[in-house]
Amino acid sequence: MTTTRYRCDGCGNLTRFDVAISRRTREFHHFTVGGDLEIESIEVVEEEIESVQCRWCGAQGDRIQVLPSETASDGSSHADVDATVTAGGD
Ligand SMILES: [Zn+2]
Repeated sequence: MTTTRYRCDGCGNLTRFDVAISRRTREFHHFTVGGDLEIESIEVVEEEIESVQCRWCGAQGDRIQVLPSETASDGSSHADVDATVTAGGD
């Protein structure tokens, strides 16, 4: 799965987005004799980002920038740096 990061042009939001993704997956469904399902592996065959909308100001489309994915950061799924995002890195 790709981790794409976004940045809202409208309000500078980096952390909260509504993302609509259409994903086609191949999954290994392992049923027990009792009928319980355990999905043992999921392979993403195809993935398409349909739309991204800023959770804060509602901007979408061209106003949402796609940031090049950085490999440097890991475990940052909880990077809730809500304030002080105005200092752009360019
Ligand atoms: Zn925004």
